Amino acid sequence: MTPVLVINSGSSSFKYQLIDMETEATLASGLVERIGDPLGEAKHTVFAPQGDGPVATFLDATRTRELPIPDHTAGFQVMLDAFASDGPSLQDHPPIAVGHRVVHGGARFFEPTLVTPLVEINIDELSVLAPLHNPANLAGIVAARKAFPDVPHVAVFDTAFHQTLAPEVFTYAIDADVAAAHRIRRYGFHGTSHKFVSETAAAFVGRPLEDLKQIVFHLGNGASVTAIDGGRSVETSMGFTPLEGLVMGTRSGDIDPAVLFHLARRSGMSIDDLDDFLNKRSGMVGLAGSNDLRDIRAAIAAGDQRARLAFDVYVHRLRAYAGAYLAQLGGADVISFTAGVGENAPYVRERALETLGFAGVEIDHERNMATERGIRIISTDASAVTVLVVPTDEELEIARQTLSVARA
Ligand code: ADP
Repeated sequence: MTPVLVINSGSSSFKYQLIDMETEATLASGLVERIGDPLGEAKHTVFAPQGDGPVATFLDATRTRELPIPDHTAGFQVMLDAFASDGPSLQDHPPIAVGHRVVHGGARFFEPTLVTPLVEINIDELSVLAPLHNPANLAGIVAARKAFPDVPHVAVFDTAFHQTLAPEVFTYAIDADVAAAHRIRRYGFHGTSHKFVSETAAAFVGRPLEDLKQIVFHLGNGASVTAIDGGRSVETSMGFTPLEGLVMGTRSGDIDPAVLFHLARRSGMSIDDLDDFLNKRSGMVGLAGSNDLRDIRAAIAAGDQRARLAFDVYVHRLRAYAGAYLAQLGGADVISFTAGVGENAPYVRERALETLGFAGVEIDHERNMATERGIRIISTDASAVTVLVVPTDEELEIARQTLSVARA
């Protein structure tokens, strides 16, 4: 067994997954949350391995514990206790490396990076650009290094995959000196998912990644689309922050920045209010009162006009980006949909691409509506562009990148 532990740390919670890299099977996963609250909660799920392994008695069993978890270090102790009591035993199968999701790598980190004290300082310094995420990611790294002091820790950055963007793509048309002084440019996010999906798609269609022009729609609560040429990100919809681009669960995506000046002058909203407004109270929540597409669909079926409009705005933006990226790439070989909406909402996929027949995109209605899971083709056999649904697996991608650094 070659176990790698993957950590995705937020400010008051962290998720973990232990993956055996020989089989790429998940051995255990968990969620430690409400860190710092009077009562925290820890969920630990153990997956039975293929065959007769030492934890074969735990068939996808989840145990939930409630106890005070004052900080991330205490949270890691709770996680270690869960492994010790429910398995799999970390004594028998210690992780050979720990991989950490880090949201912002700025222009500094363009590949998975072994965590050293200097790298920690850099991640901390990049908190200026990602004040909600990087401090939380770093808290997880610091606590995890205490829990696993003897193994390599690797930081995998959400922005890294997009460090291949050309200057004309990542540059905003604002005063160049101001932009340089404040490091304002497009960085792009969801890179781990876009990389995983584009590589998985290439393998699935059986063609070299280097030969393919691809568009990947990652449509979850956060949503972004990336154009990928020969395995390199050449254009992506999220920008300086994850706020830019598509309509999302709670984020507005693209908006005329002058709306903010107007609201600041006319509504009395402060900068923090506006931040909250565009990041947490806009998107599908702002338009229709829910960030869950299933609610929106149900509301549309019940005749709710606000929900109808929200859905139409969402799809209109997808279509606009699809057209723009087809133009940037000069056509595409593969278009993939992934994440909660992308994997589960056939009506979104169909509406997003239905006008693109002129570009060789032809969705097969039956294939698209099929409810099977797993990677699958949803275009017709005659379609020049292969359209896929590709379940994303960011944890596995982080584990793969972690292993490659740990073994280097
Ligand atoms: P996150 O960005 O938080 O990781 P996910 O990728 O899990 O999010 O996507 C969550 C969203 O996916 C939900 O808010 C919901 O809108 C959508 N979703 C999940 N399951 C379905 C489904 N069966 N049908 C339609 N939409 C779904």
